[in-house]
Amino acid sequence: MHTPVFLDHNATTPLDPRVRTVLEQAQRDCFGNPSSAGHAYGWAAAELVTRARTQVAEAIGAEPGEILFTSGATEANNLALLGSAPTHGAHRRHLIISNLEHDAVSAPAAELERRGARLTRVACGRDGLLDPEQVAAALDGETWLVSVLAAQNEIGTLQPLADIGRVCKGAGVLFHSDAAQALGRMDLDVQREGLDLLSLSSHKTYGPKGVGALFVRRRDPRVKLAPLLYGGDQEKGLRPGTLNAPGIAAFGEACRLAVAERASESVRVGALRDRLWGRLRTGLAGVSLNGAAAPRLAGNLNVSFAGVRSSGLLPRLTTLAVSAGSACRSGSPGPSRLLLDLGVPEDLAGSSLRIGLGRFTTDEEVTYAADVLIEAVTALRANP
Ligand SMILES: *Cc1c(COP(=O)(O)O)cnc(C)c1O
Repeated sequence: MHTPVFLDHNATTPLDPRVRTVLEQAQRDCFGNPSSAGHAYGWAAAELVTRARTQVAEAIGAEPGEILFTSGATEANNLALLGSAPTHGAHRRHLIISNLEHDAVSAPAAELERRGARLTRVACGRDGLLDPEQVAAALDGETWLVSVLAAQNEIGTLQPLADIGRVCKGAGVLFHSDAAQALGRMDLDVQREGLDLLSLSSHKTYGPKGVGALFVRRRDPRVKLAPLLYGGDQEKGLRPGTLNAPGIAAFGEACRLAVAERASESVRVGALRDRLWGRLRTGLAGVSLNGAAAPRLAGNLNVSFAGVRSSGLLPRLTTLAVSAGSACRSGSPGPSRLLLDLGVPEDLAGSSLRIGLGRFTTDEEVTYAADVLIEAVTALRANP
């Protein structure tokens, strides 16, 4: 067993060795610019990108022509929100997001608000699940976009996308989802979910960092976006700049593996997660799960340990890689805003840990993690 045991798969995932093979081969053998249409170096790189575009599209039930490659989900979210915003003076200037969103959605939404858009944040229930009726109630004649993430990055709850998609379709409003956490961990289908825009990230699904994609619906309706960057006609001019062909090829392979192994992996990882939760509950008093137990990402636990601060607990967990809240906000002080929104009392919100299991988590690691956690919490409670 390798320590620290990596249990932070909601922050990032290790590169799958099979993906690394594709990445290394492409980096070694395929340095061409995929836009070089005049020679074999360019053709070989373009072929990698074409294959990956099909693999990414297949993972979400889209057409290859509906996939735009980006640097990750953050860029895809920014392009979806800022790029779909109506131009100055347009009638539709209202957008809706949820209080479950990652900063990569809530910050561009706040920027649109500064630029004159009207922003509504729909709050989820105490279980961390959004009610589609609340989204319906927030719509008005000026709404152009609803953005709701697929799987929440701190508490792992899965949102009712298909129901929200129906609400949006009925109102003629675009529907975007940030699926950074969901790709490869739950079944995603842009038709069934009624999605017009969908953001994906490679490094949350065992691919390399710095790669992602935005699905942009081409039919019923054809979504029109304005670019955030200018300087080339790559990706239909919506994402200019030389494509990272090796990274994209690896992302394609990561998607192919995720589709092939999703069903069996969620059963395996879900069983490990349930066993870890069972051991924590029998080994310790005063533990509580934040967010609904289901529907939830198979690998996610967000647990409060009454009577200890996560800031005091983490330094005692040197052999475990877990986190207090989301990685992107781990620099900000105070308990998670989301947990407070769910009605978790401040002291319990400040005693929470996010534990994220993944593809390479073993039975032995789960047993070890439970023992370490139980011992550390018990010691800290006895001797604060
Ligand atoms: C990780 C994450 C992001 C950011 O994705 P990058 O590919 O790192 O830009 C956005 N949204 C959610 C929900 C995430 O978990």
